[in-house]
Parts: sequence; C-alpha cells; structure tokens
Amino acid sequence: ERIVEIEKISFENEYEKSLRPSSFEDYIGQEKIKKNLQVFIQAAQKRSECLDHILFFGPPGLGKTTLAHIISNEMRANMKITAAPMIEKSGDLAAILTNLQEGDILFIDEIHRLSPAIEEILYPAMEDFRLDIIIGSGPAAQTIKIDLPHFTLIGATTRAGMISSPLRDRFGMHFRLQFYTKDELSIIITKASHKLEKICQQNAASEMARRSRGTPRIALRLLKRIRDYADVVDEESISIERAQYGLNELGVNDLGFDELDIKYLELLLQSKGRPLGLSTMAAALSEDEGTIEDVIEPYLLANSYIERTARGRVATPKTYELFRLTPPILQNGLF
Ligand code: ADP
Repeated sequence: ERIVEIEKISFENEYEKSLRPSSFEDYIGQEKIKKNLQVFIQAAQKRSECLDHILFFGPPGLGKTTLAHIISNEMRANMKITAAPMIEKSGDLAAILTNLQEGDILFIDEIHRLSPAIEEILYPAMEDFRLDIIIGSGPAAQTIKIDLPHFTLIGATTRAGMISSPLRDRFGMHFRLQFYTKDELSIIITKASHKLEKICQQNAASEMARRSRGTPRIALRLLKRIRDYADVVDEESISIERAQYGLNELGVNDLGFDELDIKYLELLLQSKGRPLGLSTMAAALSEDEGTIEDVIEPYLLANSYIERTARGRVATPKTYELFRLTPPILQNGLF
C-alpha cells in the first residue's frame, strides 16, 4: 500500500472522521478561504437565505470535504454527500434533488466526472431550483417542471481544468485550496495527537509535517502509523527517533517523497532534459494518467520540482541538484 495514496473518492473512515475539525477555529490554514466563507455565511444568515453554490478546487486530502462539513455546521443545514461516479443515470440525480429539504446542502465530490446529460439537469436546478423532466421521445415528448426546495450545491474537484465552463459558471463562489506549510501541518498533527491521547513531541510532529507533501490527510496517516510503532515499544509520547524510524520504514524519504515520487522523478532525470509526455510516463510507471495528474504532480509542481511544458514534463535544476546530478543546461547548453 502506498502511504501517500489517496483514493479517488474518499469514503470516510472512522479514523479520519474522528479527527475531522468541525468548526473554522479548528480548521488550520487556508486563511483567505475561511475569511471569505465566514463573511458569506454571515450575510446569508442575516438575509435568512441559502448560501450561494460553492466550488472547491484542489488536490486530494487538502480539506475540501472538511470545509463542506464546517459550512453545513455553521449554516445549521443538513448535508447530503455523494460523488459524481455514483450518479450514473439522470434518475439518480432527480431522486437526490427531489429528496432535498429547504436549506439543505448537497455535496458532490469529483464533480468534474458528471456526464454531460447529468450536468444538463443540474443547470436549472442550480439556477432556478427547478427540475425539468422529459417524458417520452420525439414529437410526443413532454417536459414536466418540478419545483425544488432552495439548496446549496457544494462541488469539489481535483481538476480545475476538467470542469465544463457552463457548470463552473453556475457556482457563485470558487475557492482553490493550497498545500499546507510545515508549521500548519505540525499544528494539525499535534492537535490530532491530543485527540488520540498519544502525545507527539514537538520535533516529532515537525518531522512528520515536513514529510507529508503539504497534505493533512497524509500527515494524519503518518501519525496513525507512527503511533503504532510507538505503541508497540510502549513509548509514552511519540519521539523524534520513533518518527524518523517509522517514516523510513514506511518508505517516505527525507523530503516526503515516497517510492512512486522518486520513480517519477528518476524517470525525468534519466531523459536528460527531453520532455516526457503524460502517457509515456504512465506507461513507464504502470500508473494511470489520472493518478499521476491528481496525486503525484500537483505537489511536485507547486514546489518547483518539475515543470509542465507544451511538449511534456521536465525536471527542474532544483531536482537535478537534489539528486546530485548536473542539470542538462550546464552539460550542453541546449536545454
Ligand atoms: P479532500 O476532501 O480535499 O480530499 P478532506 O476534507 O477529506 O480532504 O481532508 C482529509 C483529512 O485531513 C480529514 O481527516 C481532515 O480532518 C483533515 N484535514 C483537512 N484539512 C484540514 C485542516 N485545515 N485542519 C485540520 N485537519 C484537516
């Protein structure tokens, strides 16, 4: 199992659920997003209206679902959770929409994966709270319009580029989540360790934070595993030695790269500055293109380990240095 692996659709496990922050105060980081959301929530409450539809962008595990939960708490609204791949037929969506109550929140994860036919149903529902059902076909076809309760749609996607523009435009608010800093992750780990009643020493928390690829979900998973190592040897609080030992055992290197990241980077380094296409990389790594684009690349791009050019991916001079190699630009000046 890949320690930094993130399921495409994250069905909540009990561990994550117990550590999920339920208020803005407990939600660390993403300050600008929190500030904006709090204003919009207050305004909607003052007017006794539903919140406008919200779209969250960002790699898996950064806290999109958590924000949706917090919004529903703040709005004192019920939230129904689903994911685009579970909505196969137009009837599936119609059933979800007609079962909503006034003021409910509907959370759709992986919203870029909705089929065009299903998106069409969503448009009038989002704009006018109306469901248009077509009965029959050809000249005899009829449209029945059903009024829906006012609701807020919260969509989450890992792929900003893959969501159709008509759908994107129907969301009143768009928020892009950022990778977390080491200090933010350190706080998340420390707070979680208190909740788990297994204190993590400060330097151990910051070591785990440094190796969590900027992602709370990964930080919490590392904590869970390292807690196991500490429990086995009856260590009362998690020490830096335990953390380092555990991280190495788990195959997470000093920079938070795991084996797949390293394989990915080595592939680019071996091509010596010649850009590699996504499909070539997917074949060489035996991974699907979606995993490469959603899980591996965002962190490497955000930290300038790689660049995406029109002709493909290349490693940056920073990465050559990291692996103690001379960047191709110095070898032949052709780069
Ligand atoms: P996403 O929906 O973006 O894939 P989640 O919202 O499911 O990510 O978050 C993954 C895990 O990380 C959850 O267990 C959540 O509790 C934790 N988490 C995410 N963001 C934060 C944060 N800002 N502060 C504390 N914990 C967080």
